Amino acid sequence: MSLALINAGELVTCAGARRAPDVEQLGIIEDGAFVAERGKVSWVGTTREYRRKTFGRPAKVVDAHGSLVTPGFVDPHTHLLFAGSREDELKRKVAGESYTEILRSGGGIARTVRETRAATSEAVVRESLGRLAQLMRNGVTTAEVKTGYGQSVREELRMVSALRMLRAEARGVEVVPTLMGLHSTPAEAGSVGEYVRQVVGEMLPRVAKMKDKPAFSDCFCEEGVFSREECSRYLKASKLLGFGCKVHADEFSESGGAYLAAEAGCVSADHLGRSEPEGIRKMAEAGVTAVLLPGTSLFSGIPYADARMILGAGCRVALGTDLSPNSWVESPQIVMSLACAGMRLSPARALLGFTREAARGLGREDLGLLAPGSAADFVVHGLPNHGFLPYRVGGRYVKKVFKGGREAWAQND
Ligand SMILES: [Zn+2]
Repeated sequence: MSLALINAGELVTCAGARRAPDVEQLGIIEDGAFVAERGKVSWVGTTREYRRKTFGRPAKVVDAHGSLVTPGFVDPHTHLLFAGSREDELKRKVAGESYTEILRSGGGIARTVRETRAATSEAVVRESLGRLAQLMRNGVTTAEVKTGYGQSVREELRMVSALRMLRAEARGVEVVPTLMGLHSTPAEAGSVGEYVRQVVGEMLPRVAKMKDKPAFSDCFCEEGVFSREECSRYLKASKLLGFGCKVHADEFSESGGAYLAAEAGCVSADHLGRSEPEGIRKMAEAGVTAVLLPGTSLFSGIPYADARMILGAGCRVALGTDLSPNSWVESPQIVMSLACAGMRLSPARALLGFTREAARGLGREDLGLLAPGSAADFVVHGLPNHGFLPYRVGGRYVKKVFKGGREAWAQND
């Protein structure tokens, strides 16, 4: 099926030259248009050029009526596969309790593990589909989703199967699955070391043999959670088994996570709130994408990553929601807003972070841009230009979402 998009007041292709100034990297075409065939973009230009050419009659014409059109957003970091919620913990955080104190009293991640284990796979998938649908209506057409609330060999295998169900049932959004084998040590494990041995020796090989095994393997490198050495062992084993590697690095303290990401050849290192410039430099040399998650700072009261230092070092900077029971953020626009106001990223850079750079954080060259050969994933926004994305937030400004050239969702006017 062919499709033509016409009359985009501002068509953001994200196909500009990488070393150009931020706005030029957006590759903006005024009065833009493009044609897509069999789910892929085949031509990009202006509406005037489109009218002069002969493409044959497209099966569908989408008229953007002068508004902003962007590539579909790519969310490179979510923990949306869980059951239950933790809304009552916000009042405890407000009263001054720390993440660790809440965890020690049986709350936090330990509570989500209990609630997820107690739920049927069907219930976990149903609840997760609701969150995916919210992301999609906010413009997300590809979302990475991690396991990590099973925390035993049996339960993580069950969560990988649940991810497969989620992937099959998701509408308008592609799910990129990640095994988060080292998230935290479950209460019943003898020791952290024993749990790491079980994950590396048994969980990883068994997940690697599953059909539709996850594309990525991820771990939480953090003081008091898993050490750099433990994560290094886990990532080496993951790589040998054919997983792409990711790491939660330096979120609460500098724990060698950025260095580890560079050494282990990770596709991305995520959080990086406390990373040293030297570790970031090593990441840039190794081509590791930095995935920054300002929504987490909002909920956990931790400092924002030094995005400008990271960019200055030559790293690609992506943004993600980190949608989880701790930071339940379903809006890329709000994350972009925090990235601009809190991390001093330019609006253009924030948009690149949720499109082209996020796609690189998932090792994908076909997503996050609108250029010949890329996926026809795009969003028609009820906004005049990209400067409004981090500026006018809180309402629903996504008018239409297309995935692979097919309409996935449209707002009823
Ligand atoms: Zn995370």
